[in-house]
Amino acid sequence: MAIEVCVRCGAKTVKTEKCGYCKRVLCVNCIKSCRKPSRTEKLCICKDCWTKMGKRSEYKKVEKKVEEEYFPRDFRRPRGRR
Ligand SMILES: [Zn+2]
Ligand SMILES: [Zn+2]
Repeated sequence: MAIEVCVRCGAKTVKTEKCGYCKRVLCVNCIKSCRKPSRTEKLCICKDCWTKMGKRSEYKKVEKKVEEEYFPRDFRRPRGRR
């Protein structure tokens, strides 16, 4: 498993997500939210893009055709284990 360095915050992590808007590969802490438009697709938005209204509303449009909302594992869960 490769350790990657998040280009946004500099954190070293093995868990990365790619922002579907700025295309950067970021750690899960820099990802605001992820959604699955279909079984095979996953769309994530980073915290930077989230602050941009245009990109955020694009993301919100995706929300409407999605049943399932997906958050990266351990996202906002300090204890890690269940
Ligand atoms: Zn980061
Ligand atoms: Zn982004």
